[in-house]
Amino acid sequence: MAKVGFIGLGNMGGPMAINLVKAGHEVTVFDLSDTAMAQLKEAGAALADKISDVCADADFVVSMLPAGKHVRAIFTGEDGLVNYLDKKTLVIDSSTIDAESAQFVGKALALVGISFVDAPVSGGVAGAAAGTLTFIVGGSETNFDKAKTVLSHMGKNIFHAGEIGAGQVAKICNNMLLSILMAGTSEALQLGVDHGLDAKVLSDIMLASSGRNWTLELYNPCPDVLPNVPSSNGYKPGFMVDLMAKDLGLAQQAAQQTNSATPMGALAKNLYNLMQNQGKGSEDFSAIFKLYSEKKG
Ligand code: NAD
Repeated sequence: MAKVGFIGLGNMGGPMAINLVKAGHEVTVFDLSDTAMAQLKEAGAALADKISDVCADADFVVSMLPAGKHVRAIFTGEDGLVNYLDKKTLVIDSSTIDAESAQFVGKALALVGISFVDAPVSGGVAGAAAGTLTFIVGGSETNFDKAKTVLSHMGKNIFHAGEIGAGQVAKICNNMLLSILMAGTSEALQLGVDHGLDAKVLSDIMLASSGRNWTLELYNPCPDVLPNVPSSNGYKPGFMVDLMAKDLGLAQQAAQQTNSATPMGALAKNLYNLMQNQGKGSEDFSAIFKLYSEKKG
């Protein structure tokens, strides 16, 4: 078993770190939130007094932070961890951030001989708790193999997408497609409902037809079609509108860099920004259904 430092114990990082403790790793954690730290203490992790303490003799340091600016600041900012990490440590950043930040941090660490992979995840809070996340890794073959020592205790599917940053690119491609499917599924379901169809019957028909997709099957955005999904629970997240809007911003940023045409992604970003402007940023991303279903009169 390995010695692991873990930074960022939020909705995702908390349960991920708990799974590492359960698997028998020696885990030292740090978060700005005392509540998050207390949860991990109860689960059996050691608490770091200050962030640099997670580096002490660590085989791995895993980070699960909100955005690129946090990852850059923690590793390469003033008094960053680059000054404290040991050369034997592999840094695994699982946050969803822009590929450029991942490459920037990877290069800064490489300059002092420290290995890095980006390893963003898919599978949400439920997958984090169940240890069934999908990890999408960017980095060298050697570091990919090494990372599996800990990733396999937090996830089920572990993919090697390419060099550093490739994990982030694959992740935003997936989330851009997911948002488009969610918007399209909502639009089609509401059109049927407006014409008197039952949403569950229509869902069953489309699931057996060519419109079948993940959102329709496992995350239906229309309330009461499926049990135990956010739409049947007041659109409590799940995966927040704010996070989807962030990922769609990253996708557009990536598209600009390569002059790639992403008109559907741009439209999806606009729809999710509209939801944020309507105060729905903290709702689940399937609440986009309400853009179609909530009508006056
Ligand atoms: P979150 O806001 O719940 O957790 C982030 C944690 O980081 C918080 O506990 C915060 O206190 C901590 N943090 C921030 N700055 C810090 C610092 N300087 N030092 C120490 N701790 C610090 O977010 P989350 O939902 O856990 O998401 C984390 C990442 O995972 C994001 O990049 C998100 O896009 C990605 N992600 C989230 C989901 C999801 O369903 N929530 C799914 C896939 C990927």
